[in-house]
Amino acid sequence: MRRETEILIIGAGVVGCAMARVLSRYETEILVAERMGDVAEGASKANSGIVHAGFDAKPGTDKARLNVLGAKMYPALCAELNVPYKGNGALVVAFQEEDRATIEKLYDQGQRNGVPGLRIVEREELLRMEPNLNPSAVCALEASTSGIVSPYELVYALADHAALNGVAFAFNKPVTRVERTENGFLVRAGEDEIACRVLVNCAGIGSAEIHNQLHKEEEKLKLIPRRGEYHVLDHPEKAPFERTIFQCPTAMGKGVLVTPTAHGNILLGPTAEDIADGTDVGTTAGGLADALEKARLTWPGVSTRTEVTNFAGIRAHEVKGDFIVGETAPGLWEAVGFESPGLTSAPALAEEMGAAIAASLQLRKKETIAPPYRKAKPFNEMTDDERREAVTADPLNGVLICRCEVVTEAEIRAAIRRPVGARTVDGVKRRCRAGMGRCQGGFCAPRVVEILAEELGLPMTAICKGSGDSYMLTGEI
Ligand SMILES: Cc1cc2nc3c(=O)[nH]c(=O)nc-3n(C[C@H](O)[C@H](O)[C@H](O)COP(=O)(O)OP(=O)(O)OC[C@H]3O[C@@H](n4cnc5c(N)ncnc54)[C@H](O)[C@@H]3O)c2cc1C
Repeated sequence: MRRETEILIIGAGVVGCAMARVLSRYETEILVAERMGDVAEGASKANSGIVHAGFDAKPGTDKARLNVLGAKMYPALCAELNVPYKGNGALVVAFQEEDRATIEKLYDQGQRNGVPGLRIVEREELLRMEPNLNPSAVCALEASTSGIVSPYELVYALADHAALNGVAFAFNKPVTRVERTENGFLVRAGEDEIACRVLVNCAGIGSAEIHNQLHKEEEKLKLIPRRGEYHVLDHPEKAPFERTIFQCPTAMGKGVLVTPTAHGNILLGPTAEDIADGTDVGTTAGGLADALEKARLTWPGVSTRTEVTNFAGIRAHEVKGDFIVGETAPGLWEAVGFESPGLTSAPALAEEMGAAIAASLQLRKKETIAPPYRKAKPFNEMTDDERREAVTADPLNGVLICRCEVVTEAEIRAAIRRPVGARTVDGVKRRCRAGMGRCQGGFCAPRVVEILAEELGLPMTAICKGSGDSYMLTGEI
């Protein structure tokens, strides 16, 4: 199929969807081409979910600037989009006296980056703040503006809002060829040829391949896929740590953390391992053992008895270490090497780059903008009175499908019916948490398959677990 659009965004991660949402405020035509079957299928779904305060990046870099700006935007953005976010604060802990210099350097860097709410906390106070912390802790940098967010729920909300304002999404469209034309670009995406005036490259680990097709030899980039593996523990009655606990950073990144998630689970990880295949998100026995061993330094009492799952994400590491953002060639706007703190920085980059693209195309602002899609309050967060009311309004609120996470049939159907709705079992799981709990879908997955088939008008054998040919059923017996 041949298609035309004014703006083509490649990649539906947090950057692509944030860009789409910002640009949807203007009178223009926007298409997002994504190689997978859903939004948030790359790094944006598999990360620590930390809204970094901004002390970690080198002063003067785009990373530092966009991190601090992005972190400031998060509380209001998540409130507007109804996305789980908590300003729980963070501690970077020194476990030996020699690490004190690193803590002081991070404090100083944070001051230079303009991060508010930083202070150095000594051992006694530290152990009062976080009693489960290893008592060998010496001191820590406290960052009170650090937060936790549900990363994929943010991407779903950004995509929904963009779609409500006219952005089109094309899934299962891997971009394999990009070339310059007289009026812009011609892009091969799956079976489609897409002509556009402006190209926005937000393809994460795939972004260098696109960049390199449009730049001279000396401007070509190389991304190193750096895998990070995690353990996910069930949500305990009482969280062992209120804050996100980092260890001192190393040359490979911010190191292994222990943190509550926005949904109250406990996350241990990530490891940092350079690998050859940027799509290999498999976890390994060695990686998981390494993550656990390192987490033990922070939390000597750690146990994986309540582990519900594990996962890995791939960082798109560029050797020079800074983000490559902006208009790198006429009409070509990019976010390459957008590794951590990319989740934190994405909203700020989108505002900045979106405004610049709109100015370059002399786009007019729309007179009215549709408000964001509002997901109903999750059933498991409702009071008994609210539950009674919800069941009266829609009896499907009284049909419990996921017992572990207390998710109802009404919520699953709503996840499928959203503007950019779930099409797979994993898409349902991440949108409403059915299958996120202790049994990992052992009980509810067959019902979710049935509901997906009904809602999408497909046979159950056509329903997949996630992107690609991951069919849940092989046939009828
Ligand atoms: C282990 C780990 C931990 C992290 N922790 C944090 C954190 O706590 N806080 C933080 O701020 N940041 C964190 N990050 C960084 C953050 O996750 C990323 O910076 C952010 O998600 C990048 O978003 P993106 O949209 O650029 O990339 P992605 O989310 O990867 O999206 C890119 C999209 O492009 C698609 N694509 C790729 N190639 C093509 C193609 N040729 N055609 C069509 N589509 C294509 C992909 O399928 C993908 O959907 C972490 C990253 C990792 C891996």
